[in-house]
Amino acid sequence: MPTPEVIVVGAGPAGATAAITAARRGAAVTLIDRARFPRDKTCGDGLTALALTELDRLGMSPDHLDSWVPVSEVVLRSPSGRNVDLDLSPTGHRRVPTGVVRRAELDQALVRLASAEGVRVLTGGAVTGVSPGSDEITVTLEGGGRLSADHLVAADGMWSPTRRHLGLDTPGYRGEWHAARAYLPVDTDAARRMWVWFEPDLLPGYAWSFPLGGGHVNFGFGVLRREGLRGSEFAATWRDLLSRPHVAEVLGGPHPETTMRAWPIPARVTRAPLTGPRTLFVGDAAAVADPMTGEGIGQAMETGRLAAEAIAGWSLLGPTAVARSYRRSVRRSLLADHRLAAGLSRLMTSTTVTRAALAVVDTNDWTRRNFARWMFEDYPRAVLATPRRWSALVPN
Ligand SMILES: Cc1cc2nc3c(=O)[nH]c(=O)nc-3n(C[C@H](O)[C@H](O)[C@H](O)COP(=O)(O)OP(=O)(O)OC[C@H]3O[C@@H](n4cnc5c(N)ncnc54)[C@H](O)[C@@H]3O)c2cc1C
Repeated sequence: MPTPEVIVVGAGPAGATAAITAARRGAAVTLIDRARFPRDKTCGDGLTALALTELDRLGMSPDHLDSWVPVSEVVLRSPSGRNVDLDLSPTGHRRVPTGVVRRAELDQALVRLASAEGVRVLTGGAVTGVSPGSDEITVTLEGGGRLSADHLVAADGMWSPTRRHLGLDTPGYRGEWHAARAYLPVDTDAARRMWVWFEPDLLPGYAWSFPLGGGHVNFGFGVLRREGLRGSEFAATWRDLLSRPHVAEVLGGPHPETTMRAWPIPARVTRAPLTGPRTLFVGDAAAVADPMTGEGIGQAMETGRLAAEAIAGWSLLGPTAVARSYRRSVRRSLLADHRLAAGLSRLMTSTTVTRAALAVVDTNDWTRRNFARWMFEDYPRAVLATPRRWSALVPN
């Protein structure tokens, strides 16, 4: 059987997972990123159960990464000011479903694993052009070099230059969420607990403090992008959040001098192009982040794996069969969860609804434990509506 040749553009979690999986399934893979690793990525650094499961599939554990903190205590603050403590301690066969690790470390570890699996890794130079042909697809590299392959996996993030080169961009699209974060030193118990603040003025968005090794937290907030949201307004919200007494108390005092980094989060997989000529879009380039929480690392890795599996399984029948298989598997894996999360996010714009929902969550130990597991994707979002996944509902 001929070896499929694959170019992956973008070496974040989506691209690295696609490259590793395709190489393991026998493809000749080139992974290209304009950045050199380790590179920073503006992110909350939180790994959901979905991301941890995808890391397991790759045989990679975050345990050896310096900043990794597994999290078993989460506090949600309702818009009414009530704190709901969630216990995520491992029970039965289930491990802690969430943890935090700096993206600079995680992404570098994934790129190293790709290299160890035989992937040709080219970093420090952007892809500047993409030309699909009838027998292959060709990318132009910064500096003028060209590379061709049977298939392209576009894992080049929110602004996906590949999408633009192929003429598949939606003019004016700037993502569903706008989010910002900074690393702050703390000497409070925020160094081991996760905090999520559902502030009335952010709904359905929220602010967070996620613990990291070395006495730091990733602090940030995300809001739905709306017409006319201005940078100055966003920066004012940032400063204001840090000075709110309940936030400052958790962080051990105000951090007025902090500079934040902001970036959009695309969460509209039902409307974004998943495929183009000889091309499969994955991760943020396919807008697969969760519309309710904005989490996208797990979905990026999952779509990267699905793209590689579609290429490995269907390449012999040509790019149309590969594209069809990929669209089908994304539909099957993500669409029901995505639609449900989008509906819940719409409901959570109401302070009353969010307050009532968190009151229900706080009813008893079972609701607190299982809501936390559902929130961190240990149970698929739409688990009740998808009977084939009811095996995930193991009572504990
Ligand atoms: C503030 C914030 C907080 C977040 N918090 C969380 C969280 O806690 N948990 C979570 O799961 N998700 C979170 N997300 C979402 C998450 O960061 C993304 O969904 C995730 O990074 C998507 O991964 P990716 O591999 O698709 O893209 P990326 O990680 O963006 O990687 C894309 C890569 O493509 C490369 N690239 C781009 N253009 C080119 C080019 N022309 N040539 C070559 N390479 C190119 C870039 O250099 C980059 O390395 C957050 C996002 C934001 C903005």
